Amino acid sequence: PLVLGIETSCDETGIGIVRGRRLLSNTIASSMDEHARYGGVVPEVAARAHLEALQPAIEQALAEAQIDLHDLDAVAVTSGPGLAGALMVGIGAAKGLAVSLGKPLYAVNHLVGHIAADLLDASAPPLEYPTIALLVSGGHTSLLHVRDLTTDVELLGETVDDAAGEAFDKVARILGLPYPGGPEIDRAAADGDPRAIRFPRGLSRASDLEKHRYDFSFSGLKTAVARWIERAEANGETVPVADVAASFREAVVDVLVTKALNACADLGVPRLLLGGGVIANRRLREVALERAAEAGVTVRIPPLSLCTDNGAMIAGLAAELIAAGRAPSTLGFGADSTLPVTQIQVDEGAP
Ligand code: ATP
Ligand code: MG
Ligand code: FE
Repeated sequence: PLVLGIETSCDETGIGIVRGRRLLSNTIASSMDEHARYGGVVPEVAARAHLEALQPAIEQALAEAQIDLHDLDAVAVTSGPGLAGALMVGIGAAKGLAVSLGKPLYAVNHLVGHIAADLLDASAPPLEYPTIALLVSGGHTSLLHVRDLTTDVELLGETVDDAAGEAFDKVARILGLPYPGGPEIDRAAADGDPRAIRFPRGLSRASDLEKHRYDFSFSGLKTAVARWIERAEANGETVPVADVAASFREAVVDVLVTKALNACADLGVPRLLLGGGVIANRRLREVALERAAEAGVTVRIPPLSLCTDNGAMIAGLAAELIAAGRAPSTLGFGADSTLPVTQIQVDEGAP
């Protein structure tokens, strides 16, 4: 099926068009620059930016895919999780489009969309089930057991406080680096020693592992970095930014990879799929590939343009649901900012 997907859960206005698992276009307009001076995404600013960006983004996506709106078989949209106001802009546009075209509408889960992004990577062999998936972004850090993308996604664990990307952004701020902090820390860390400072690995003690084997925590790490810098400054030392960045990055990467590979071993699943914007982190890719190889686990990393928030993954998920024979969503659905990952599609069952 030919599907247009709309993604507005955070600060990216994403419009993607797919034909089944074939990616035809993937247009992304980001309002990140507008949030930069606030040091984080401002919901109202994001919603207004979506409103302005949607129409041109849809036109550009159609032009790049070289298709006409009337050729579409279905429209897809993110219904959650994400910022409620931002989600509502995309949902309003999707409903209007579907109704005016007389086409079915699929309201889908953003996090499952991140997994579906992998299907659109034409350079990789087909995704095999089951797989463990690690989603790491500015808003999420989730470890999933995916038995089937369209029917069975289980949440193994998630962050109990900050998301991994959020931790990068906050620590960058502490170090006086600009927003978004992930790429900045990655760059600064290149010249640093990852073993210079031993920062804490959240929820990794034996006592934590009983209840939180697959959960993450990064706020203690962030505080540890802040304390370390305060102490250095109080002693009149210059802060070794590169070493702090490298040691912090190592702590985040170590926990993410360790817990993901623990899940692979515990559940006997020799496959790991990575997704989300933090996958851009060079050290994370390196350590994941290295340690997975040692553990006999195959790692899949879609291209970055499909890892960060985008509309193609939403269209791709809907195309997969259609191929599985699922009915479209009824038009009564709204934005669900805390939609659980187990709910792959919302309000299925329109006549
Ligand atoms: P959501 O959580 O809703 O999926 P988001 O927009 O917050 O969406 P993404 O766009 O997927 O998340 O990713 C952005 C996050 O990734 C930011 O927190 C950013 O700092 C982080 N990031 C980007 N590049 C890197 C990097 N090289 N290393 C670490 N973190 C990075
Ligand atoms: Mg983003
Ligand atoms: Fe996302």
